[in-house]
Amino acid sequence: MHPDALTIGNLMGQAKAKKLLGRALANQTMAHAYLFRGPTGVGKKRAARTLAALCNCLAPEHGDACAVCASCVKFAANSHPDLLEVEPVKGVIKIDQVRDLQKALRFAPHEAKVRFVLLPDVHLTMQRKETANSLLKTLEEPPADTILVLTADESGKVLPTILSRCQVIPFFPLPYDEVASTLVAADGMDLDEATALARLAEGSLGRARLLHDKGLLAERASIAATLCRCPAGSLASIGPILAMADQAAARKDDLPELLALLAIWFRDLILHQMGAPGAHLASPDLAALLHAADARWSLPRLLRNLELIAAARRQLARNCRATLVCEVLFFALL
Ligand SMILES: [Zn+2]
Repeated sequence: MHPDALTIGNLMGQAKAKKLLGRALANQTMAHAYLFRGPTGVGKKRAARTLAALCNCLAPEHGDACAVCASCVKFAANSHPDLLEVEPVKGVIKIDQVRDLQKALRFAPHEAKVRFVLLPDVHLTMQRKETANSLLKTLEEPPADTILVLTADESGKVLPTILSRCQVIPFFPLPYDEVASTLVAADGMDLDEATALARLAEGSLGRARLLHDKGLLAERASIAATLCRCPAGSLASIGPILAMADQAAARKDDLPELLALLAIWFRDLILHQMGAPGAHLASPDLAALLHAADARWSLPRLLRNLELIAAARRQLARNCRATLVCEVLFFALL
C-alpha cells in the first residue's frame, strides 16, 4: 500500500481515536458532528479525510478503505466534491463562509454516501460568538448523510456552544520513533536529525516539519558549534559572536523558539554530565559536540546558562531590542 494512501492502516498512532471511530462505524452509530481535539501536527485533519474516504469507499476491506476505488482516489487527491473544507481567511472562518456552507448543504451530496465537512482549528478560526452561533443549527441538525468534523488544539479554547454539540475524539502526541522514521522515509532526513526533531517537537510531525522548514534546528547547531569554538574573553571571539547575534535577532518572531531549542541543548549537556544515557537526550544531532562542551562548561556553568537563556526570553517578551539581547546572551554563555 502506498504510504500516502488515505487508509486507517496508514494513520500514525492515535489508537484511541481509531477505536472510538471504528466502533461507531461498525455499529452504525456515527455522530453528526465530531471535534477532533489534540496537539497540532499529529494527524487530525488527515484522520478526518481518512474517515471520509473510508465511509465512502466502494470496496472496503477488513474495515479499512481500499485506496484504489474511484471514490478513494478522489479523496486521496483532495478532489472529492463531497469533502467540503472551510478554508480560514486570514486565520478566521467568517460568518459568510458559514452561510455559504449552509446553502451548499441544502442540496444532496453529489456522489458520496456520506458527505463530510471539515472546519479546521476552531480554537483559532471560530472565536467570534456570532460565527459560532450561526453554525449551531447545522451542528445540531446537520442534513442527512452529512458529518461535520471540527479540529482544535488541546490547549486552545473552544467556545462551549460548539463543544457541547460535538462528540470529542481525543488525539495524542505521536510515538517519537514513528515521527522520526516518517521524517527519514518521506522527507529524506538523516536519522539523527529526524530523531532530534521528533523529540524537540514532542511527537508532533507537523511541528517537526515546521522546525525543519524554518531552519531552526540547523541554526541551533551552528550556534552551538560557535559557542563551543569561541573562548570567553578572547578578541577572536567578538566577530563571530556579534555576527551570530545579528543573524539570530533577524529571526524576529521565531527567536524565542530558537532560544528554547538552545536551552534544550544545554539541558541535554546537564543530563549528560549527570550521567544520563544518550538515548534520553533530545539532541542526538549535536552528539559530536558533547566532548567539546563537557570540556568547556562545568555543571554550575551549564545551570547558569539555562538561567541566562530564560532571562533573555523574558526580555524578548518585554519587547527589549532583540540584537542587544542576543549579543549580551551569547557573550555571557561563553
Ligand atoms: Zn475504496
